[in-house]
Amino acid sequence: MNSRVAVIVVAAGRGTRFSTDQYRQPKQYRDLGGRPVVSHALEAFLSHPAITDVLVVIHPDDTDLYDRAVAAIGPVAGEKLRQAVSGGASRQESVRNGLVAMENRNIDLILIHDAARPFISHAVIDAVLEKLTEGNRAVLPAVPVVDTLKRLDDKSGQLVTVDRTGLWAAQTPQGFDYRTILEGHEKANLAGRSDFTDDTAIAEWLGFEVILADGDPDNFKITSRSDLDRAIKRVPMTKIQNPGLAELGDVRMGTGYDVHAFEDGDGVILGGIRIAHDKRLKGHSDADVVLHAITDAILGAIGDGDIGAHFPPSDPVWKGASSDRFLEDAVRRVTELGGKTAHVDVTVVCEAPKIGPHREAMRQSIARICNLPVSRVSVKATTSERLGFTGRKEGIAALASATVRLPFTGEDFS
Ligand code: MG
Repeated sequence: MNSRVAVIVVAAGRGTRFSTDQYRQPKQYRDLGGRPVVSHALEAFLSHPAITDVLVVIHPDDTDLYDRAVAAIGPVAGEKLRQAVSGGASRQESVRNGLVAMENRNIDLILIHDAARPFISHAVIDAVLEKLTEGNRAVLPAVPVVDTLKRLDDKSGQLVTVDRTGLWAAQTPQGFDYRTILEGHEKANLAGRSDFTDDTAIAEWLGFEVILADGDPDNFKITSRSDLDRAIKRVPMTKIQNPGLAELGDVRMGTGYDVHAFEDGDGVILGGIRIAHDKRLKGHSDADVVLHAITDAILGAIGDGDIGAHFPPSDPVWKGASSDRFLEDAVRRVTELGGKTAHVDVTVVCEAPKIGPHREAMRQSIARICNLPVSRVSVKATTSERLGFTGRKEGIAALASATVRLPFTGEDFS
């Protein structure tokens, strides 16, 4: 098949049926297996070999959400994905905007899909394309209605069983000859009609025969909270290759505290850098009290034990070890959960050495180890007014907090 086949994904809806729960995001951008709902359908179309152009119609307020959804797809977005266009007041208007935006691309066939149907398979896409290439101008994927249907009779007030023979539940992507459906939408617009709820309804209105193709019960539309729960159960948690912080809605915070005593020496290691001093810190590893506190803060945020559990001081392997590796290990554990360490703040408590002159170097060192921008690392210092062990210059204490962001698994609170 050498036709140019485009897809319009309609993602401009506001999802009013979701508005009563705690989230404000439209359903097509809600988290499904660690990435936005719409990214699932986009990936299916972008990876289909027969499809040449994919265009998404979005609400103008959703550009950031859309950019994140595209980022979550990764390299498959490639060269097929066109610049998104803004939707209109109705679904019908949104589709028309998408059709018009495709006008100069020599499109032969077009598929129109709802963003809230994440489980569109290549098999259903193939079934629709097959009917189109046979010369049909309008193709509807559908599944037989299996539930027994009842209708409340207006006059009698009684429930009446509806004969479901010949009844089909319509799905998307609906497929069309591009020029036919573009003209259909233009005619509907000129006729002042904006009430068509799907595109095959326009084809019917124009008098074209709509041909059925095999749909798939899994290709359901997420319209309610229970649909989203059903979808979450179906999709495995996927690890996003390089998630943006916005995709990581589960925000965790952890704290860490560590102390090391001074002994005779010529310098201390703090935050991964060496600071000249007339003492050094005593410990099994390099005794970097700052990195130890940060490591515990990150482990605390993901509920994964503490530094002593992962790197027991009794194990000779860690003797004299550079503490970079402890912190790197904690950061790796976050990454393995599909998350990111977002921020680190540490307070060093000592009378000496003076921390101020080394603060920036420490920030940079910690940022490098945690793979963070320096702006997301804070180093503060204080004395304890000569009180206690730090006041008596017997050692150094460090307190840290870390913010970690993880993907929602769908099992927690949502
Ligand atoms: Mg320690």
